[in-house]
Amino acid sequence: MTPVPATPPPDTRDWLVVLEQGCDECGWSPHPAAESVQRLRAAAPAWTAVLARDDARHRPAETTWSPLEYACHLRDVVTVWEERTRAMVAEDDPVFSNFDGDATAIARQYWNASPAAVADEFAVATAETAGVLEGLSAEEWERPGRRGDGAPFTVSSLALYFSHELTHHLRDANGCPTVAS
Ligand SMILES: [Zn+2]
Repeated sequence: MTPVPATPPPDTRDWLVVLEQGCDECGWSPHPAAESVQRLRAAAPAWTAVLARDDARHRPAETTWSPLEYACHLRDVVTVWEERTRAMVAEDDPVFSNFDGDATAIARQYWNASPAAVADEFAVATAETAGVLEGLSAEEWERPGRRGDGAPFTVSSLALYFSHELTHHLRDANGCPTVAS
């Protein structure tokens, strides 16, 4: 079994700014929230291609996640997206439980995962979250919730927040976006 690899430096950038300004690193720009459904569905084949690559397990630098580790992270992020969306629809302005991506990576040993299994799990997670979003009414898209630090979200702004993560991490893994249909 591979020993625990080095942890990447903490991510201190405030990604909320991206929701209004777009991201100059990955080229993501704000879009209608409902478009997140197509982007989620398009992410599955894009990551299946990434995970089939020979370098899927390879870290480009000691403290940079491999494509496999990014895929595991994004799989779990997509599940957090579903959980938070469901909470906002069911509860009145819920406070999200914390998600520590670095701690989860170590606890779940992302570096030891099977790329083929992760591709399957990623496809399931994206389909489930897309299904939840597809079922939302116009009123439900605007339901509120807040992050542990108090930052306010709606179902729509949370969808944009995570839509950016889809694009940004695909760039991190040198993947090619598939055309959303
Ligand atoms: Zn970005």
